[in-house]
Amino acid sequence: MKKILLTGFVLIMFFVGKISSATDGIINITPSNGVKQGQTAFITVDFPDTPKNPVFMFKGKKYRLFKSGQNEYSGLLGISALENPGKHELAISDGTEIVGKAYINVLASPYPKQNIRVTKSMSGLGASDYELKQIGQAKYTVTDEKLRTNAPYNSPTQGCISSVFGLKRYYNGVFSGNYHNGIDIKASFGTPVKAITDGKVLLAENAKLFRVNGTTVAIDHGQGLVSFYLHMSKLDVKAGDFVKAGQKIGEVGSTGFSTGPHLHWGLYIHGTPIDPMAGWIKPVSLCK
Ligand SMILES: [Zn+2]
Repeated sequence: MKKILLTGFVLIMFFVGKISSATDGIINITPSNGVKQGQTAFITVDFPDTPKNPVFMFKGKKYRLFKSGQNEYSGLLGISALENPGKHELAISDGTEIVGKAYINVLASPYPKQNIRVTKSMSGLGASDYELKQIGQAKYTVTDEKLRTNAPYNSPTQGCISSVFGLKRYYNGVFSGNYHNGIDIKASFGTPVKAITDGKVLLAENAKLFRVNGTTVAIDHGQGLVSFYLHMSKLDVKAGDFVKAGQKIGEVGSTGFSTGPHLHWGLYIHGTPIDPMAGWIKPVSLCK
């Protein structure tokens, strides 16, 4: 029997709850019963009046909220795969003062471990400063316009999952602090790679300058959501292009730090990598 990764998205839709705050603002957090490590919290706030500069604060960081109704504003929060399980405060501000507070209950996700035996010969390959800077900037892109349509989207390429999100990397038995921040989709060379949903190409770089990530495309879907497509053999877009859902942006390859043809595909919310299989794309089979 095929192993299918089930998405929690449909279930999530049934758990929408309203949490009244201490003041007049009403905060909705979906899913209301808790958000797993590596997954997404959908935040909607009904403000009593039109806010000046609506934001929410979580773990000492500020994130923008975007207009989604008359006095209603929404935003996405990516919960890190390494976030401590338990209750964490979320505060809402209209730009002048705190107008409401709620709690996000972070639930543990049992991500598997992967031990990698590191030898001296493997330590030579590093990303250039240029590569790190470009990737870093693209990850944290936040634009006003919501370019995306509703999830779940079609998989960015045809293939099976050879490596899941969240795999904790141990080097010679010691946790490296790193984990697999996307999914690997195994496919043959030249398989079309498609944009998951509408967006604007933030970067389209070939492997000459991207020694680790290889030929890479990053797409801004608006309001803090960015998708990454790595190790490709061919580029079909350039930075600044607007792409539509399902539009071909490149082809599967094995450029950069890669041992065989596959697409590493990652999804970021305000720079935090999240599990794309948790409701963002339709189920994809694991490789046998
Ligand atoms: Zn990968």
